[in-house]
Amino acid sequence: YVKNQGGDDICWYDTAIDEATTDSWQLEAELRVAASEGQFIPYYQPKFELATGAITGFEALVRWQHPTRGLLSPVHFIDAIIAHKLSFELFSQIAIQIAKQLSIWQKQGFLQHICINADAAEFSHPNFSEMVSNLLTQHEISTHQLHIEVTESSLIQRHSNVKKQLELLKELGICLALDDFGTGYASLSYLQEYPFDFIKIDKSFISNIENNPTQHAIVKAILDLGNALNMQVIAEGIETEEQRDVLFAMGCKQGQGYWLSRPVPADSATNMLIQQYSVV
Ligand code: C2E
Ligand code: MG
Ligand code: MG
Ligand code: MG
Repeated sequence: YVKNQGGDDICWYDTAIDEATTDSWQLEAELRVAASEGQFIPYYQPKFELATGAITGFEALVRWQHPTRGLLSPVHFIDAIIAHKLSFELFSQIAIQIAKQLSIWQKQGFLQHICINADAAEFSHPNFSEMVSNLLTQHEISTHQLHIEVTESSLIQRHSNVKKQLELLKELGICLALDDFGTGYASLSYLQEYPFDFIKIDKSFISNIENNPTQHAIVKAILDLGNALNMQVIAEGIETEEQRDVLFAMGCKQGQGYWLSRPVPADSATNMLIQQYSVV
């Protein structure tokens, strides 16, 4: 397997962004320009089999290619996107790029899936699933190549329509993941209420799993729950080989984290695939 390709080559311009956030109108205006001019780009972080390190798919994580401030991480603008109701614009822009990336990989013989993050607010749009389905048809992507992750925290607001849209997406054959599991207020009831296929254990439960009995016990309980509910479980934030070993010994099968790779640009992700397929 391949390891640590590329880097997290993100420039931090905290001061500049702090100034922008104090003037939220300006940030909103800049976000609208970003949405219309295609300044949002996906970075890709591999998901891998703990047993072999083989890449099973990628998660698309948005970066804002800001014209003057450089490449910005979502922590600086995701909340503003949601607050200004631009989530769907962001989603469409990322989705189009990943659909194109999937068709490139498909032509190269790499049958991968890509997972896109979505805020629950986006599902309030009555035609959300229809728009996703049209996009996939247009780019000749099969529905099982797209996964959608929804964070627990965004489900708290109980937007109308979320359940219905998730069910429609699931009927289309799109896999759904509950992201940051265990950090929200109603983790267990979300599993009961919505049709998720995957649980992603939040990285805060993995960060010290090799030494911390509490983290170990929590992760064990989530793995048992996933088993009992027939849901796949993915551990987020695996940073060391030791963490991978501990998780693997516990029966966790899939993971993500800096240990294998940070989120990287599309060409580095392609290189990882080329390397993996040429080794096999
Ligand atoms: P997330 O979906 O839970 O993604 C995981 C975050 O953890 C990513 O941060 C990733 O870079 C980081 N990460 C991955 N492996 C490790 C590790 O081993 N250690 C540590 N410490 N961190 C790790 P990032 O890219 O800054 O994204 C932050 C959050 O922004 C995401 O959390 C997601 O909730 C949100 N986000 C990202 N892209 C999108 C998007 O296109 N749409 C929406 N609505 N939200 C997005
Ligand atoms: Mg990051
Ligand atoms: Mg995610
Ligand atoms: Mg997460």
